[in-house]
Amino acid sequence: MGLLENRSLLLKSNKILKIDHKNKFKDLNYKKINLNESIIIPGLINSHIHLELNWVHKKLREYKNFPEWLNQIIDLKKNNLNKNVIKKSIKDAIISSIKSGVTTIGQISSYNGIDIPIINKYGIRCCYFYEIANSNKDNFIKNLKVIERRLIKKNLISIGIFPHSIYSLDTKIWETIISICKKKGYITSTHLSESRDEVQFIKGNDNKFDNLIFQKLISTPNIYRRKSFSPLKYLKYINFLDLNPTLVHMNNLSNEDKDIVKKNNLRIIICPRSNVFLKEKLPDLEFMLNYDLTGLGTDGLSSNHDLNIINEMYFLYKKAKKLKIKNLKEKILYIATLGGAKCLGIDNQVGSIQENKKADLIGFKITQKNPLNSILYDGGKNINLRMIDGKII
Ligand SMILES: [Zn+2]
Repeated sequence: MGLLENRSLLLKSNKILKIDHKNKFKDLNYKKINLNESIIIPGLINSHIHLELNWVHKKLREYKNFPEWLNQIIDLKKNNLNKNVIKKSIKDAIISSIKSGVTTIGQISSYNGIDIPIINKYGIRCCYFYEIANSNKDNFIKNLKVIERRLIKKNLISIGIFPHSIYSLDTKIWETIISICKKKGYITSTHLSESRDEVQFIKGNDNKFDNLIFQKLISTPNIYRRKSFSPLKYLKYINFLDLNPTLVHMNNLSNEDKDIVKKNNLRIIICPRSNVFLKEKLPDLEFMLNYDLTGLGTDGLSSNHDLNIINEMYFLYKKAKKLKIKNLKEKILYIATLGGAKCLGIDNQVGSIQENKKADLIGFKITQKNPLNSILYDGGKNINLRMIDGKII
């Protein structure tokens, strides 16, 4: 990936037809968009977001760790099922995303398709992950069929499956999901290694899932655990890794886990501000930023201060700066574009500016000597072009 100067893009319908020196196109009799002193980059990809959870943000009380936070989320979700509140969350989350330069989202959907018409209306590209936990395990196959039918002819939305986590699903349900995904070829993703307690949980050690979360459930999930497991080794044991899943968070990995990641070419989405928001540690940024299959997400507003992907990139930049990583700014831009596209399985369509790829583009006014600083430092205020699938939005 590099910066090209004095170039123009020739677009046809929703695709990039040609990239060439700007003089080559100047006499063509097409509609022209002149951005002057600007930099054009591929549209940003927020690879992991829960559009429906904006409303949770203001209702959170103090918590000391991930399980205490999750405990509140479970209670809030039980009490608040007002559809209009959820619809407003979805709309607000899409608007904030687009405003910060996002053209593709990896949406984790847990309200049975309430978000589909809204995503469709705003015309944002979306990998739509249907979320499964023990709470909806009995009817997920039926509901999934309904969702699939509703996504027919929605060209910008593709479907995937998102088992919520290793602690929220019976091992047996994981096995059912794995066999369905193998048969149907769905892309899969899950939250993994997000908290210290999750690591202790899967080993069967003392942890707050057993001591706090499961205490309130009518039936406790039936999960196979072993002292030798890490969250990742458990997924390997049940053959989930055969599906080439995209693993979200991964901020509590052992060195052995990192070897498994590399050996299996596993895709990883990091959400660094969410980890800090939940009082957990950051992922190994040196490992993640030097790995080819890393994407970036904000997670939901339930575990972040805002859904601005550029703020997420800037936060990452500040944290990683001390690590002396080569070409750090370029690497951060990579994970927010092509890296994310790889994580969502759509890198043949988007994620870079290439002939024949979809015209998902963002323009920034150049305000600083290094054009990359114009992107990273302004929180999206200098964006002067937003285009998804060839349409200016
Ligand atoms: Zn999440």
